[in-house]
Amino acid sequence: MTDRLYYDDAYLWEFDGTVTAGKETDGPWIALDRSAFYPTSGGQPYDTGSFCFDGKEIRVTDVEADREGIVWHRVEETIPAGTSVHGKINSERRIDHMEQHGGEHMLAGAIWEKLGGTTIGLHLGAEDSSIDVAMPEGRTHLSEEEIRMLEETVNDRIRRDAPIRCWFPTKEELAELPLRKAPTVQEHVRIVAMGDFEMVACGGTHPASTGRIGQIKILSAIPSKGKIRVSFVCGKRAERVFREVFRSAKKAGNVMSCPTEKLAACAGELKARLAEAERKVNRFETERILQDIRKNEDPESLPGITVSVTTAGEADSKPVAEAVSRYVAEDGHALLLCVGERLTFARSRDVDIDMNELIKRVARGGGRPDMASGAGIPQCTEVALKILKTEGKGKNWRKKRI
Ligand SMILES: [Zn+2]
Repeated sequence: MTDRLYYDDAYLWEFDGTVTAGKETDGPWIALDRSAFYPTSGGQPYDTGSFCFDGKEIRVTDVEADREGIVWHRVEETIPAGTSVHGKINSERRIDHMEQHGGEHMLAGAIWEKLGGTTIGLHLGAEDSSIDVAMPEGRTHLSEEEIRMLEETVNDRIRRDAPIRCWFPTKEELAELPLRKAPTVQEHVRIVAMGDFEMVACGGTHPASTGRIGQIKILSAIPSKGKIRVSFVCGKRAERVFREVFRSAKKAGNVMSCPTEKLAACAGELKARLAEAERKVNRFETERILQDIRKNEDPESLPGITVSVTTAGEADSKPVAEAVSRYVAEDGHALLLCVGERLTFARSRDVDIDMNELIKRVARGGGRPDMASGAGIPQCTEVALKILKTEGKGKNWRKKRI
């Protein structure tokens, strides 16, 4: 079993040890008699760093613990057993992990105490972290007020800078401790106590006091498989999120000439004005396309009906659809339309043409007998008209009224 030095001192960044074993699993791994490297567990990712010996420095790229309690270090180059090495931990990465992990404890403790929610697991991600919370009566939402209350509670407790203590209690002592939840292991149970706010079994690394978590910011609380997934950032990450959000809000405020606190109202107003402007443009576009369609009307080419073969420049699908449906709402109309590279073949309900069949003969597309669409070029409309003329010689294109 490796002597885990981080148990006693989570701020031990350098240490000496001796290589006891090596193995090859997708690269070389080595084990030491003692190590301050934290192996991935309990949702907290591994440490990185290096081993120095004989003037060399070998990087550590992954750390895992096996069932026997041996900590294995994946190294860029193997180091023979018996070698004395000097280990160096990437302290910036570990402090970041301790800030997120410590904050998670405080948040889980507050959710338990204030709302009766049970935290199931921690995911410490590269950007943010999350916990899944099972709430009483299977509730899957937190109100804005509850989120604010939790954030304020945790941040107040962080500011009190209470000591964080980790130890291995005796069985008798363990039985008396007011733990937030029962330990998942029976032997070598390690307890973390953060002031009076949180006490639970945990083998992870923690800051020395709550103040060193810095701060917490809850990013979201969304339903997830019958639970609530609460995402958050702590410490330096919270500082970064605030800086980025604040900078973006400032920029957006400058663009929209409004103070940041009025951004939501300004954005809402702008959205409404944009929707109104779009409605106006669509109305105008619809009229333009409809005018084009009428300009190309020909009452002669197919007996009994008026056909329009029209090509128009690019336009949004909404005004095109509106113009088409208005045109064929009138009796006796057939329309072979090409807008940009989009074809629309449509007819009035009293016209005897299967537009679905017709469009398939000249381009890629399909639809209903009264209206079909597809991709094509203006020539497709001409070819379609030719087909109708040739194959429908002597035909009356107007359906008989029933
Ligand atoms: Zn912990």
